[in-house]
Formats: sequence, C-alpha cells, structure tokens
Amino acid sequence: MPFLGLLSSLVVAIILPIIILAIYLFIRPKGELTKCPHCNKNIHDVLTICPFCRKEAKRECLNCHEPVPWEANQCPFCKSRALTGKN
Ligand SMILES: [Zn+2]
Ligand SMILES: [Zn+2]
Repeated sequence: MPFLGLLSSLVVAIILPIIILAIYLFIRPKGELTKCPHCNKNIHDVLTICPFCRKEAKRECLNCHEPVPWEANQCPFCKSRALTGKN
C-alpha cells in the first residue's frame, strides 16, 4: 500500500520536529548557566549548591546574607568583605 507509506512518512515529518522541540523546551535551562568552582560543570546560576559535587557553588555574605558569586572578593550588594568560605 503506497498510501500508507506516504502517510507514515508524513506523520514522521510532522511529529518528529514537534517531539524534538518538546524535548528541547524540556531540557532547556531556565536561567543563566555558571560553572561550578569545584567540579567545573555547568550549573544553573540560581543554585547555591552544586547538584554534581554537592559543594557550595556560592558564598553567602555574612553582613546581608545575600548569595554572592564564588569568585567575588566582596559582596556586590553591601560591599562587605565578610563572606563565607573565605579566610
Ligand atoms: Zn560541582
Ligand atoms: Zn552583603
């Protein structure tokens, strides 16, 4: 039946891009990616704990308690230099 072959290839041509798009939308990160300072894997910027190595990916300001980027030397919010994980 040549009609069935045409129909199935038509279904594949329509369904397949939709599935790929759905998968892409599902795995697409919602937010900025940043690198874990410990294991160097890409993690979401909103995470304070790395899901791969379970270590803290961000410091916390001891003055205003905002999350601070790991590489920062001072808090970008209150300019305090008292951050966790530094000595
Ligand atoms: Zn990590
Ligand atoms: Zn602060």
